Formats: sequence, C-alpha cells, structure tokens
Amino acid sequence: MRETVNILGVKIDNITVDEAGEITKNLIENSHKTCELIVAPNVEFIMRAQKDKEFFDILNSAQLATPDSIGIEIAAKRQKKPLKQRIPGQMYFRKVLEVGEKEGWTFYLLGGKGDTVKRTIQNVKKIYPNLKIVGSHEGFFEEDSEEEVIEQINQLQPNVLFVALGAPAQEKWIAKHKQKLKVDVAAGQGGTFDYEAGNIKRAPRCIQKMGIEWLWRLILQPTRIRRMAVLPAFLLRIIFTRDTTKGKWSN
Ligand code: UDP
Repeated sequence: MRETVNILGVKIDNITVDEAGEITKNLIENSHKTCELIVAPNVEFIMRAQKDKEFFDILNSAQLATPDSIGIEIAAKRQKKPLKQRIPGQMYFRKVLEVGEKEGWTFYLLGGKGDTVKRTIQNVKKIYPNLKIVGSHEGFFEEDSEEEVIEQINQLQPNVLFVALGAPAQEKWIAKHKQKLKVDVAAGQGGTFDYEAGNIKRAPRCIQKMGIEWLWRLILQPTRIRRMAVLPAFLLRIIFTRDTTKGKWSN
C-alpha cells in the first residue's frame, strides 16, 4: 500500500522521486493504452479544487499524484505525516525520461508556446541521447484541431504523454480525452517545458532547497502574483483548521 497524505480532500502520494519512477513503470507495464492519469498537485491545485468540483474529482481519480511545492510539505507536516520528498515537476519529468531511456519507452510531448517543445526535445536529448521521443505538438491549438492532435498521438501510441498546457487545463484535457487517447500514462507537466527549453531559469540550488522557488519564479514572472494570492489563504487555513484533511467536497 502506498502512503498518502490528504490535504483539504485532495489525495497525494507520499513518495520519493525514485518511487514515483517505479510507480510510473508499473503503471506503464500494466496499462493497455488505458491512459492512466498522473498529476502533480501544488497549493494552487488544492485551492482551485476547493471551488472546482470537476478539477477536484479529476485530481482524486489520478493513479499517481506527486507532491509539488513547499505548501504541500507544510500541510503534510502539520498532519504529522512529513513528506519523504518534495518533487517539483521538472524533477519527476527527468526521472521518467531517465527510466524511460533505459526501458525503451516512447514519448509524446504536448504543450508550450511556439518552438518551446522542440527546444525542450533538443535539450533533453543532450542528457538522454537514446530517448525515443516519437512526436510533439505546441500547446496553443484551437479546439477544432483537437481531434487532429489526438489522431496524431493515437497513430504513434506512445507509452508516455506529457501534457503542458498549465493547470487545470492540462488535467481537464487529459480527463476529457482519456477514453480516446491510446497512451499508457498521461502526466500534466505545467511549466516544465519552459524550464527545459531555457525560457525560464530555475532557481539556484540553495533557493530550491529553502523551498522558496515560488518567490524566484514570481520575481521572473511578476504576472503570477494573482495566481499566488491563494498561498497566504492556504497557509492560514492549514494553520487554523483542526482537520486539514477535510475540504469543501469532503463528507
Ligand atoms: N500553455 C499552452 N497552451 C495554453 C496555455 C498554456 O501550451 O493554452 C503552456 C504555457 O506556454 C506554459 C505552460 O502551458 O509553458 C503552463 O505553464 P505554467 O507556468 O502556467 O504552469 P505551472 O508550472 O505553474 O503549472
């Protein structure tokens, strides 16, 4: 049985990145192109899920939920279930690429602006030269070309589909097309392609370790301030609520 933490009703796996790699491997080996959903909840996810029941249900239907961000770590500690490891999106991405290169998995990358996804592929291939990335598509397509994108993915039938359209769009997109998509696993990746392509610089290691990468990102992308406004509300709720496992949709 996997250890989990439940934060305001959202279930998250308490695992290390190596375990996340192993679980992904198991999912792929046992999936018959059944598009198993993988999510990476952070504080913005949890708060959004409090007012968006569809998103809440999608998150809780995931086969793997990796803990992203310091807020999740604080909430887990408050429940006396300290996280084994905080797993930023890019860390999970790299782990899956590393395992996938050894296992010979095929990958499809969907998302990002312009040539971001192409540059992501070029850069990760320098690190994992034997990686089989069989296809990609940028992330700003019209709804009427959605079917074309799905058709392309289904012709390739990759083991792993990474979707970076931002949350909650990427999770909703996967959930909406889950029945049709012929992939083993599909994972929401948020801004990971922006990091891999070099559009955004990741924080220096010491800032990452301190858990204030969100502040670094805010300085680089000040427009994120509105989205981040949920952080203090989340912390107050975690500090002052007796049972932090219960959320708006919990019984
Ligand atoms: N994006 C996209 N299509 C869209 C909206 C967003 O491909 O319709 C991409 C955007 O270019 C960015 C990523 O989705 O690369 C979302 O990044 P964000 O920083 O919002 O994700 P986070 O890491 O905060 O979840």
